[in-house]
Amino acid sequence: MRIAMISEHASPLAALGGADAGGQNAHVAELSAALAAQGHEVRVYTRRDHADLPTVVPLGGYHVVHVPAGPPVTLPKDELLPYMGAFGEWMAADWRDGWRPDVAHAHFWMSGLATVTASRACPVPVLLTYHALGSVKRRHQGAADPSPRRRIPYERQLGAVVDRVVVQCQDEIRELLALGVPRTSMALVPSGVNTERFRPDGPAVPGTGRPRILSVGRLVERKGFEDLIRAMPAVPGAECVIVGGQPDDEPYARRLHDLAERCGVGDRVHLAGAVPAADMPRWYRSADVLAAAPWYEPFGLTPLEAMACGVPVVGTAVGGLVDTVVDGVTGDLVPPRDPRTLGRTLRRLLTDDVRRYSYAAAAADRAGHSYSWRRVATQLAAVYAAVAGLTRAAETDDAREVVA
Ligand code: UDP
Repeated sequence: MRIAMISEHASPLAALGGADAGGQNAHVAELSAALAAQGHEVRVYTRRDHADLPTVVPLGGYHVVHVPAGPPVTLPKDELLPYMGAFGEWMAADWRDGWRPDVAHAHFWMSGLATVTASRACPVPVLLTYHALGSVKRRHQGAADPSPRRRIPYERQLGAVVDRVVVQCQDEIRELLALGVPRTSMALVPSGVNTERFRPDGPAVPGTGRPRILSVGRLVERKGFEDLIRAMPAVPGAECVIVGGQPDDEPYARRLHDLAERCGVGDRVHLAGAVPAADMPRWYRSADVLAAAPWYEPFGLTPLEAMACGVPVVGTAVGGLVDTVVDGVTGDLVPPRDPRTLGRTLRRLLTDDVRRYSYAAAAADRAGHSYSWRRVATQLAAVYAAVAGLTRAAETDDAREVVA
């Protein structure tokens, strides 16, 4: 099959751990490589954010295509909406010029808009993975949510016009039903983990002699790092290493430092900053436990990557973590925004070697068995094939508004 992946802000070529580069970039890169390895022809369309970028870059068996849409500079993803029309038109021209895909799989709602625009000009079945939902973000961030004002209505309309919505976890199904997306247009295929790179055996970042609690993510409030720091007094002797972000430049990092000082754990909390994706397995292997304390999490790759490295997870019972972490088997689930329970649970696990080793073995087994990219790509290819055999759904007035 010829497969177009559309990921307007999240390029597979970006360095991860910065402001707008995280799970979606990794997901699109790994999925594309896994589909290419199965013999599919894959092109990833992403926005050109630097003037010197070549139009086409070969990568891991597939191609990244840089679409000229808006100024060729880095922009926050929340400022990209005005350029999605141009993005879609450029893509349609590319498809008409000879590389017409069998399916187009859009990642994130803005890519969905660009892809629906393109498919109007050059009919191709469209699939959409939201990755994150505006309704959930608004619920948690309220007035601080910088998303474009019309995000939620656009997401609702997209759910009605695309040929298939690929959902990543049970929690997302509930959210999408509430948004009015029909259950019949959803296909549940989780994200995956590269089990060749993320594996229990291999080198590890040296330890300091203290039990290590690792937490990984962009330095944003909703990742729950403050809750984790507040939990640390209940875990005496352990260190907490946070990987991600730019601690020297981001004001939020100062806030985390100050909080650690106030909690009396400043000497046991270390902000390591963003590390290259290639180094992540070494960090996971250095940990006794991975703590993931988000307030909400559309899927959450880092718990899964830790599991694949044979590291138990203490995570909040939100989003994809409820599916990936089997409570009491591969890790422990705790309520979000509850530092007291988080601390108690971390302490219990760090002082119980038998429980930790048994979680570790079950975690590696589960990640390898249920979430390898090969398995995910096979499942998705079956969905693509089914959708490619369909005629496009009737277009509605709502749909026209989506691309206005
Ligand atoms: N990551 C990385 N370097 C860092 C921090 C994170 O390579 O310094 C990677 C991490 O391994 C994972 C992704 O970024 O693949 C984060 O994905 P997740 O779903 O956990 O969070 P998101 O950033 O999408 O909210």
